[in-house]
Amino acid sequence: MKSEARVVVIGGGVVGCSVLYHLTKAGWKDVVLVERDQLTSGSTWHAAGGFHTLNGDPNVAKLQGYTIGLYDELERISGQSCGLHRTGGLLLADTPERMEWLKMAHGRARYLGLETELLTPKEAKKLLPLIEERYFVGAMLDAADGNLDPSGTTHAYAKSARIGGAEIYLQTRVTALERRAGGTWKVITDKGTIHAEHVVNCGGLWAREIGRMVGLELPVLAMEHMYLVTDEMPEVVEFNRTHGHELPHAIDFKAEIYMRQERSGILLGTYEKACVPWQPRQTPWDFGNELLPPDLERIAPSLELGYRHFPAMERAGIKRVVNGPFTFSPDGNPLVGPVQGLPRYWCACAVMAGFSQGGGVGLALSQWMVNGDPGFDVWAMDVARYGEWATRRYTNAKVRENYARRFSIRFPNEELPAARPQQTTALYDLMLAQGAVMGDSWGLEAPLWFAPRGVEPRDVVSFHRSNDFAHVKAECHGVRNAVGVTEIANFAKYEFEGAGAEGYLSRLMTNRMPREGRLVLTPMLNEGGKLIGDFTIAKAAADRFLVWGSSQAQIYHMRWFEQHLPRDGSVRVRRLGLGLVGLSIAGPRSREILAHLTDADVSDGALRFLDHRSLDVANTPALINRITYTGDLGYEIWVAPEYLRRLYLAIADAGRDFGLVQFGMRALLSLRLEKNFPTWYRELRPIYGPFEAALERFVDLSKSDFIGREAALREKESGGKLRRVTFVVDATDADVVGDEPIWHDGKVIGWVTSGGYGHYVERSLAQGYVPRSLAGDTGPGAFEIEILGERRAATIAPEPLFDPQGRRMRG
Ligand SMILES: Cc1cc2nc3c(=O)[nH]c(=O)nc-3n(C[C@H](O)[C@H](O)[C@H](O)COP(=O)(O)OP(=O)(O)OC[C@H]3O[C@@H](n4cnc5c(N)ncnc54)[C@H](O)[C@@H]3O)c2cc1C
Repeated sequence: MKSEARVVVIGGGVVGCSVLYHLTKAGWKDVVLVERDQLTSGSTWHAAGGFHTLNGDPNVAKLQGYTIGLYDELERISGQSCGLHRTGGLLLADTPERMEWLKMAHGRARYLGLETELLTPKEAKKLLPLIEERYFVGAMLDAADGNLDPSGTTHAYAKSARIGGAEIYLQTRVTALERRAGGTWKVITDKGTIHAEHVVNCGGLWAREIGRMVGLELPVLAMEHMYLVTDEMPEVVEFNRTHGHELPHAIDFKAEIYMRQERSGILLGTYEKACVPWQPRQTPWDFGNELLPPDLERIAPSLELGYRHFPAMERAGIKRVVNGPFTFSPDGNPLVGPVQGLPRYWCACAVMAGFSQGGGVGLALSQWMVNGDPGFDVWAMDVARYGEWATRRYTNAKVRENYARRFSIRFPNEELPAARPQQTTALYDLMLAQGAVMGDSWGLEAPLWFAPRGVEPRDVVSFHRSNDFAHVKAECHGVRNAVGVTEIANFAKYEFEGAGAEGYLSRLMTNRMPREGRLVLTPMLNEGGKLIGDFTIAKAAADRFLVWGSSQAQIYHMRWFEQHLPRDGSVRVRRLGLGLVGLSIAGPRSREILAHLTDADVSDGALRFLDHRSLDVANTPALINRITYTGDLGYEIWVAPEYLRRLYLAIADAGRDFGLVQFGMRALLSLRLEKNFPTWYRELRPIYGPFEAALERFVDLSKSDFIGREAALREKESGGKLRRVTFVVDATDADVVGDEPIWHDGKVIGWVTSGGYGHYVERSLAQGYVPRSLAGDTGPGAFEIEILGERRAATIAPEPLFDPQGRRMRG
């Protein structure tokens, strides 16, 4: 065994072997994999081996497409068969809602370049005669679906990695990880120690335990999962004989089953509601090649429905039942990337669909390690998307919810109930008492909208405009016509202190730093000039800056901030979390309320647009930012949590004379749409440049160097490929939700990032990216946007529909 290696990959399941292969492919040869037992001896060996491109996040779907395309390459390099069966697959809809969901998925597939087709039940039955067609209203055919041999595929990765220079040590268990001076790792195994620059946790069923070796509690949990394999079925034999090929895969959402041909029978797996976690605290080190006892009782409701939907199945004998554990994160997507606070400790864990996702995970991680950047948008599987609030109990509740809902529709306005409330502010009960419908904002309860007295505070989930429509409209009008208050505790906040803080921030951000008492808005770029953040920065004192950003990206951003801190200690960064909470008052009368609550001069001359002040407001020591995401006159008022309740009550009290309304996140998002303001994670993602995103006024190329400047300069000169635009959409009762295709001249040329109804301007709005050459086509109906399978005329709005000159926010 080597005593030194650039990388030690821990775990020889499909994911570890893929990471190892991709590292060699990216040019790192001095890499080793350490496996406790044999390759595949975690969850990999008993997988059903199915693969597909379907995923709620388009970027993960794309990576799944990459994985599936990789198998031919692996077979070619390794000479090892992956046992591929490229059969295609049917997704079967039992209700109109599910069919709408499939239409949405079909629309997304279009711009992802994936091959899908919508079918009638009759057409579906032609492809899969086992179907009892009266139970279905339609289907989608996904040409990329298929299955493979899990062991052959894992060995194909491993052989390809060895050919590329990697070494693999079997029967070698990592027992401890120690940080060495200089930041490298001592990887201690039962066969000796390896000094490594980097370690990668590909521990699968033991990912938690390998996390704990460095004091990390990863939000990952294994679940028991069952599939059964039938004896030979005459219907299958007959189909193979007459058609000359295998049956396609199928997912039956109603019965919560997936199925495919296995030899001359059928393999049928379930994601049952009565699901059971496996080893919720600690995975035993001696678990290996055994299976768990089957429990057909638990999956009986799914089987019953399945037998009704596929009657031939009921007649078939069951040859084998497999019950094995595999791991999930709370949202079901993998946990990939470098871990904040633990330089050179990387994760590739919680990969629940190793044969759909393993290749993409390996590609992303290897590029991240070798080039410092994953090379594409991996936000949906970034390990940094969870905070410390994702505790073991939270993970347990969310993973069970996710497993049980694996084949359920998630409606665009649907908030999931498990593990809530996890975090609340001091206003929680007050908001509920006023009819707030709460949503989950990075683990924190945040008001979405307020049901007036007599209206039930509950969302009716739908792909269409729903029961909140009139109430969100009233909130928007309340803000625009008088004043509204909303809680903004969920924003991310950071404090930067020290003699080097200004220079440091200036190097990270594209905009010039503010003068003392002022704010700037600024994007942040990676080395490649792509957007990795968008912030409001206040200079609070000579050596002290406060920074606000997007809540979900707090760990992601801290990881970047820490990575770039100067080594001389001249800058200190702190995430303030819920140690600083706040309220926003917005609308033409917001100044009157503020003036009522403070004896300071808050006139336009004294407290200008983009001013930052420390003031007493309602007898609380507060920080005021004159800015609001509504694009109106408005203020953010930030206080320590112990003052929040009193401040809120004082605003509510004072507001009575000014027509104050409460508004929630939904109204806020509608108001920002009317101003063309972008949001992080939808419009602003690391696949776009700042000029493409129309943020040029926040990029100061004349200031001294900043990260991504060269690339930004090139983008400015070339103009970039894409352009973010806002559309007015000819929608009737369903608005865009994001990820819809944009058509021009009969072709899909772009995609929607977000949108909804602009309640004040009374238009359905969408933001999205189109090729730059088309961004000037402002003709009425020059574009179409596909909503639930129907193409709706869309017209570019070159300037914000509300207050294009920005007089209200500056006034
Ligand atoms: C019944 C069932 C059916 C499934 N069907 C499918 C399917 O159809 N399609 C699909 O894509 N996925 C399927 N899966 C999921 C699939 O198995 C997983 O996505 C995949 O196995 C994850 O691989 P992994 O490499 O992350 O983890 P694992 O396979 O668990 O690998 C982790 C490896 O790390 C090793 N290890 C752990 N700790 C140490 C240590 N300290 N030192 C050294 N080595 C260590 C272990 O021995 C193990 O080999 C199924 C799973 C089950 C249980």
